[in-house]
Amino acid sequence: MIRRDRSLPFAAAIAALLPGVTAADEASTAARLAAIHQDPPALRQFMREFPKGGDLHNHLHGSVYAESVIGWAAADGRCVVLATAQLGPPPCDPAAGRPTVAAAISEAGTYERLVDAYSVRNYERRPVSGHDQFFATFGLFFPGTVGHEGELIAEAAARRGAENTVYLELMQSFGMSEAASLALATPGRFAPGREAAALAGDPALAAIAREAREALSRYEHTWRERAGCGTPRADAGCGVTVRYLAQVIRTLPPEAVHAQIVLGFLLADADPRYVGLNLVAPEDDRHALADYANQMQEIARLRQRFPKVPVTLHAGELTLGLVPPEALRDHIRQAVEVAGARRIGHGIDVALEDRADELLATMAKRDVLVEINLTSNAVIGGLAGAEHPFLLYRRAGVPTALAADDEGVLRIDLTNEYVRAALTYPLDYADFKALSRNALAYAFVPGERLLTDTRTGQRIAACVGSSLVPEQATAACRAWLAKSEKGRLQAELERRLEAFEAAH
Ligand SMILES: [Zn+2]
Repeated sequence: MIRRDRSLPFAAAIAALLPGVTAADEASTAARLAAIHQDPPALRQFMREFPKGGDLHNHLHGSVYAESVIGWAAADGRCVVLATAQLGPPPCDPAAGRPTVAAAISEAGTYERLVDAYSVRNYERRPVSGHDQFFATFGLFFPGTVGHEGELIAEAAARRGAENTVYLELMQSFGMSEAASLALATPGRFAPGREAAALAGDPALAAIAREAREALSRYEHTWRERAGCGTPRADAGCGVTVRYLAQVIRTLPPEAVHAQIVLGFLLADADPRYVGLNLVAPEDDRHALADYANQMQEIARLRQRFPKVPVTLHAGELTLGLVPPEALRDHIRQAVEVAGARRIGHGIDVALEDRADELLATMAKRDVLVEINLTSNAVIGGLAGAEHPFLLYRRAGVPTALAADDEGVLRIDLTNEYVRAALTYPLDYADFKALSRNALAYAFVPGERLLTDTRTGQRIAACVGSSLVPEQATAACRAWLAKSEKGRLQAELERRLEAFEAAH
């Protein structure tokens, strides 16, 4: 029986205006969420099945769980320094405390210690901060992932698929260490301030870009093979549309960062699988702080050469006390106003920036989305609940979407972030639909948007009143969908939302 809740007339009224969505279905689903919004186990079930448009902030290496890395390292004959948990290539030396991973994990307690070392599991019990534990993990486990890039993608995609997510943008650094090495080997070659056209035409960098694209083809082939895509045993990841963001390590010397930025633009310009770029690594690192303004300027200069390549930036992932107050004044503003970022990752220090209200108004006006990473911010930044500016952004009309960030290292998944948001903030079902839809509306996958309003679900004129099932859509809507890759993904999400509401 469908329950009608008189407390939700707005959602029902909106739904009544929309074709394909039954007002009663949406109202009863909204009532169900209202009834369980402080019930974590029930919320977990609800949110796991709730259709999520996408995950726009997700690092490939950070999304893999330690257990996978340890398994690969053991099978590959890799070694581990017992005192530090550092993985590395053979030959191993058990007498010097560097046995094979396979031998090490046969000793009681070692497997568990390695899982802790490659993640923030049990970080509260350790003498280091969440911040330091988090960032220390990558260097320790990275050697265990080499040669398993396709499996990394497979794990990230499968988890999103199992959580009913349509789209995933993965940050990864394919080719970036080669670009950085090229810059460091030939000083002056990527000197900041050099003309963008000359940088973009560098033949050695072009060769690195070619190899990175070919490598991605190999990795995707491995992913689809392992996942059984196209066969009856296909896993849930096969149904997820995966695109990539070139991630630049911002803590390296300026020319090495610059070469990586150029590589990111080259990849996104040439290859539709690469949809944009981002800068990563601790923003509070002393080199990253010193070079921040220059990095924003270099992105601005290259955007003039590659105006169609969208940029999202980790900006304002800082807190008072982590850095001097002066470093909190304008990182988000520079990312938006100088570098032209269309999305901001984290942005947790926004209230500490100069003229924060004006900045928020600018972000709302320019339609800059903030990728919200609640667990990441709680563990790394110690920022949670009312301290987090999630609601501040929303009140200012800045679009937001929930993301998993480094879910493997953080020991979470995307569902957890929806549950966390529901338990922490006064959000109703319409809010969650908008958050889910935003994660596609603001994706960098090309094409016009199907929805003119992610809250109400209002569609572009060509598809009003039409079914969104391709074979059943009106001719006008079908023609429109054929032209927009993003629109087709959004149609898929709308169909999944209808199915979810009919079942809940
Ligand atoms: Zn991140």
